[in-house]
Amino acid sequence: MVKLATTLVAAAIATAHAGPRTVVLDPGHGGSNAGAKGAQLHEKQLTLALSTQVAARLRAKGIQVVLTRETDRTMTLRQRVAIANRIPADLFISIHGNASPARNQRGYETFVLSAHAVDIDGRALRSDTPTPRPAVDPDIALVLDDVERGAAQWEAADLAARMQRALRARRGDTGDRGVRQESHHVLLGATMPAILVEVGFIDHPLEGRELADPATQAQVADALAEAIEDQLAEL
Ligand SMILES: [Zn+2]
Repeated sequence: MVKLATTLVAAAIATAHAGPRTVVLDPGHGGSNAGAKGAQLHEKQLTLALSTQVAARLRAKGIQVVLTRETDRTMTLRQRVAIANRIPADLFISIHGNASPARNQRGYETFVLSAHAVDIDGRALRSDTPTPRPAVDPDIALVLDDVERGAAQWEAADLAARMQRALRARRGDTGDRGVRQESHHVLLGATMPAILVEVGFIDHPLEGRELADPATQAQVADALAEAIEDQLAEL
């Protein structure tokens, strides 16, 4: 079974990696969902600005990028994931800004999006968005989805660590809140490595002002693009 799975995964990887790499960037929130609110800007504005800049940097390196939204529109998580699954993308990166009740927190952190609902719930949930596998038996495709999800978790952890390193190099050690995994950060039914990066606290008096500054945004975009590019080079 292990051997079979390995062979199947090797075949799937060969198929998936035949073309150019595709990254899905997900600007968090949008439309009626503004997200966290800072004095200078709302989270939905920051995430779109950053995603657009990261996309430009990656495209300049020949990497294909798809944004889940390019305008100020409301989208569900399921819709965002469906975009990545349909391609299917090599990586999914959801970009967010943070806020804290006392407006006194600052720093950046990256979540590995878990695929806890893999077996029973996951199978039911993903039945409407299976990974497209032309010429693969549907039953085998389901097994492939499960096995890939396991590998994807490791790759996502890798990518998350890269994100933190790249942000640390530009934003300083003191803001490093680390790589985290929490059960409420679930990416329903995605088979590719998926992470969520909180680039900073937009409601912090100082950090909020920094994040509204184009120079800081460029710094953060540089960090995110570098981490993604490095990760793709190792896939
Ligand atoms: Zn958010």
